[in-house]
Amino acid sequence: MSEFYLLEVVAVRPTSKGPCKLERGEMRRVSQDRRFGLVGYHVCCPRCGYVTVALNGRDGMVITEDEEGGAVTFSEPLRCLFCQILIHVRDGLGTLEEDEHVRNVRYR
Ligand SMILES: [Zn+2]
Repeated sequence: MSEFYLLEVVAVRPTSKGPCKLERGEMRRVSQDRRFGLVGYHVCCPRCGYVTVALNGRDGMVITEDEEGGAVTFSEPLRCLFCQILIHVRDGLGTLEEDEHVRNVRYR
């Protein structure tokens, strides 16, 4: 297991904004209509601001959400496509994990 640093815990808030309008640490459900089930989440990286998609059922990722959809949990950490940081989401709280792949960059 590689060395890592836990940087910070950030609140990850579900939002109905469009994916390109997300602020750092926000996430958006896909689809927005709960009758059509959960495809995944757009997650705006709290560190660099890039939006990465977490797809339910891909690469072992299982996304669970409570009845109201307020508390989302990812079974696996999501790696930001831009800065490569790992974003853990548990009960709606995000934790950032930094490993040797992380790039010191900001998307915006
Ligand atoms: Zn990032």
